[in-house]
Amino acid sequence: MMPSALFVQIVLDKPLAQAFDYAWDVERLGCEPAVGLIVSVPFGSALSVGVVIKVNTHSDLEIAKIKSVIDVAPLPPIDGGLLSLMNFASQYYIHSLGETIVPSIPQMWRKPERWDKLRLVAQSSVSKKKKNETASASEKFIGVDQLNPEQKNALNILLQKENLGAFRAILLQGQTGSGKTAVFLNWLASILEEKNSQVLLLVPEINLTPQLERRIKAYFPDKKIALLHSGVSEKQRGISWQEAMLGEAQIILGTRLAVLTPMPNLRAIVVDEEHDPSYKQQEGTRYSARDLAIWRAHDQGLPILLASATPSLETWMAAQLGRYEYIRLDSRAQGANLPKVHLVNTQDPQNRSQHSPLFTKIIEGAITKSLGEKKQSLVLINRRGYSPVISCPACSWMSKCAQCSSCMVMHKAGALSKKTVLSCHHCGLVKPMPNFCPDCGNADLKPVGQGTQKIEDVIENAWPQATVLRIDTDSSRRSKGAEELFQKIHEGGVDIVVGTQMIAKGHDYQNIGTVAVLDADSRLYSPDFRAAERLFAQLIQVAGRAGRSQQHHQESGDIYIETQHPDAAVFQYLLRHDVDGFLSFTAKEREESKLPPFSYQGLIHAEGKSIAKAIQFLSELKAQLVERGLVHKGVKIYDPVPKTIMRLAGSERAQLLIESNSRKHLQELLEAIDRLLRQDSQGRISKATRIRWLIERDPIAI
Ligand code: ADP
Ligand code: ZN
Ligand code: ZN
Repeated sequence: MMPSALFVQIVLDKPLAQAFDYAWDVERLGCEPAVGLIVSVPFGSALSVGVVIKVNTHSDLEIAKIKSVIDVAPLPPIDGGLLSLMNFASQYYIHSLGETIVPSIPQMWRKPERWDKLRLVAQSSVSKKKKNETASASEKFIGVDQLNPEQKNALNILLQKENLGAFRAILLQGQTGSGKTAVFLNWLASILEEKNSQVLLLVPEINLTPQLERRIKAYFPDKKIALLHSGVSEKQRGISWQEAMLGEAQIILGTRLAVLTPMPNLRAIVVDEEHDPSYKQQEGTRYSARDLAIWRAHDQGLPILLASATPSLETWMAAQLGRYEYIRLDSRAQGANLPKVHLVNTQDPQNRSQHSPLFTKIIEGAITKSLGEKKQSLVLINRRGYSPVISCPACSWMSKCAQCSSCMVMHKAGALSKKTVLSCHHCGLVKPMPNFCPDCGNADLKPVGQGTQKIEDVIENAWPQATVLRIDTDSSRRSKGAEELFQKIHEGGVDIVVGTQMIAKGHDYQNIGTVAVLDADSRLYSPDFRAAERLFAQLIQVAGRAGRSQQHHQESGDIYIETQHPDAAVFQYLLRHDVDGFLSFTAKEREESKLPPFSYQGLIHAEGKSIAKAIQFLSELKAQLVERGLVHKGVKIYDPVPKTIMRLAGSERAQLLIESNSRKHLQELLEAIDRLLRQDSQGRISKATRIRWLIERDPIAI
C-alpha cells in the first residue's frame, strides 16, 4: 500500500503572515514529521530554515508546485509550551510567527550545512555531566536554616503546597541586600528536588556577572546550568539551548532572550530586577521578556516570582491590587543600615569646590574622609568618554556626527584607541580628533562637559595618592572585561571607582564609604514619561552599594546626589528611601494624565531619506485610519513627530504614538495598521515612498 502523502506547514523568518506548504518524505528524511521540528527548505533561490507548525495529509496547492523539506535539524521538536508562547508573542507584538520564532534559535542551529556534523556529535557523545567548579569561599551559600525569620516566612509562602501546579505571580519586594536572592535560590532548590524539573532564572543584561553565576553554582553544585546571555559565545549558546531543549540542563540562567528557550520540563520562573529596562528587546520583535515570562507561566500553569527593590509601576500596582501575591522583605539581611542620602544643590555657589569646578565641596570632603578611613568611594557619571562635545569658541562649530543628529564624543587616547578620537555613540562612527576647527581653522578647540575619562583625570589630580579605577563599557571591553575590574575592587586595591551605571548593578561590594552621583539631572529631564521612575530605581540601586559591609555593622555609608532641583519629588522620596511613597505618587501622576499603566500604547516607527517624507507617511496613515473609521472612541492618535535622535546613521526617523484605554481596541487598531501598510509594502518597506516602518507594542522609550 502506498503510504499517504505527508505535508507540513512551515514558517520562515520573513515578515509574511502565512505559513508555506512543503512535502515531507519520511524515508528520505529518516523521521516522521512533527510540529516544532526545525527544518531546511528551498525558498526562492536559496535554502531557508523554518519551523514546522502543522502536519497535514493533503495540501490545497498543486502537487507539482510543492517543494520538499530538505533536511531536519538533529534536535527534538520545540515544546508545545514555547510554541504557544511564540504564537502569542507573534500576535501581540504584530510580527509574523516565523519572524518571532526563527531568530530565537541560536545561529549554530540555523546553519543546515552544519547539521550533518552536529548529528555525528549527538550520536557519539553521551552527554557528560560537568560538575560545577567549586565556588570560591567568598560566594556565600545561605541555606534554609540560615535564613532570617523574614526570609523564612517568605520562603514558606512560596512553598505553599496547595498552589502546586497552578499559575501564581508573586512580587518579592525588598531593598537591595534584603536577601531576596537567598530566598528565591532556596525556593528554586526545593523545586529542583523533583527529578528532571527545569527552572528559568532571568536577569537583566548587565547584571549577569560571574559573581551571580558563581553564587548560583554554589547553591546547585550538582545541577547542570545552561547559560544564555550576550556574553556567551555563539557556540556555547547553541549548546546551552540544546541542553535546555533536551531537558538535560535544569537551570536556565540568562538575559531576556532566555525566555524564548525550549524547556520541556519547566516548573518555575524567576525574573530578578523585574523593573529593568533591558528586559525589553529593542529590535526585531520588540518583546518584553518579563511580560512574556508572565504569560508563559500563566499559559503553562507555573509559579513566577518577580523580584525587585524598586518594582515597575505595572508590577507594583498588580501587587497592591491583589492581582499578584505580595511578599516583602523589609530589613537588610546582614543588618547593615541604609546609607544616608544627601542632596547636593549644584546651583548653590557655596557648594563649589575651589580645586575643581567639577566637584562640590561636600563630595570632595566625603571622598577625602573615606580615603582617610580606608574605605572605597564610587563616583557615578552617566556618560563615557572624555567630553560629550568639542566646540570652537571662535565660530561656535560643534563636533556633530555627519550621520546622526547628535554630537560626537571626545575619547582620549587610552587602551581602546592609540589616538584621541571623536566617536558617535549612536552610529559608531569614529574620526580622528581634529587639530583645527574644520570651519574657521582655530587651533583652540574646547572639550565641553564631562564623561568618565575626564572625571578620572580630575580625581587623579585631586587625590594623587589614591588608586583610581574607571569602569565603563570602554574600559571593560579589553581582556577579561568588567569582571577583572570588579575583582580588583573586591580585593581592595582600589580607593576610588569612577564609572557609569554599570558599577551600580548587582555587585556586592563590602567596603564602600561614599557614593557620589554626578549630574543626576541629566537623566531626569527627558521627554520620556518614565524618566523619573528609571532614575529613582537607579539611585536606589546605587544607594544599595553603600553600607553593605559586614565588618562595619553600625556604619551605613553615604550617598551624595548632585542636582539643581533638590525639591523634585524623585529626590525627596529618595531622601527617605520611600519606594512605596514614590510609586504611589507616580501612580497618581500617571492616572491623572492617563499614561500607562492607566492606558495602553503602541508606536509606529517610520524612517527614510528625509524627515519630511517620514512625517508625511505617518500623517497619511493617520488620515486613512480616521477616514476608514478604524479609530474607536477612547483611542487617541497623536500627531507624528521626529524622534529625539532624528537622524541616525544617515536615515531620518519619525514616530506616531497611539494611546488607548482598552487593550483590545489598541490591538485591533495595530492589526489594522499592519494590514493596511502591508498592502503597499515589500516586507516593511513602502513600495511607493521607500519608507521603512515598524509597529511596536508597549514601547518603553518614547
Ligand atoms: P538581595 O538579592 O535582596 O540584594 P541577597 O540575597 O543578595 O539580597 O543578600 C545580600 C547579602 O546578604 C548577600 O551577601 C547574601 O549572601 C547575604 N545574606 C542573605 N541572606 C542572609 C542571611 N540570612 N544571613 C546572612 N547573610 C545573608
Ligand atoms: Zn571655528
Ligand atoms: Zn552618528
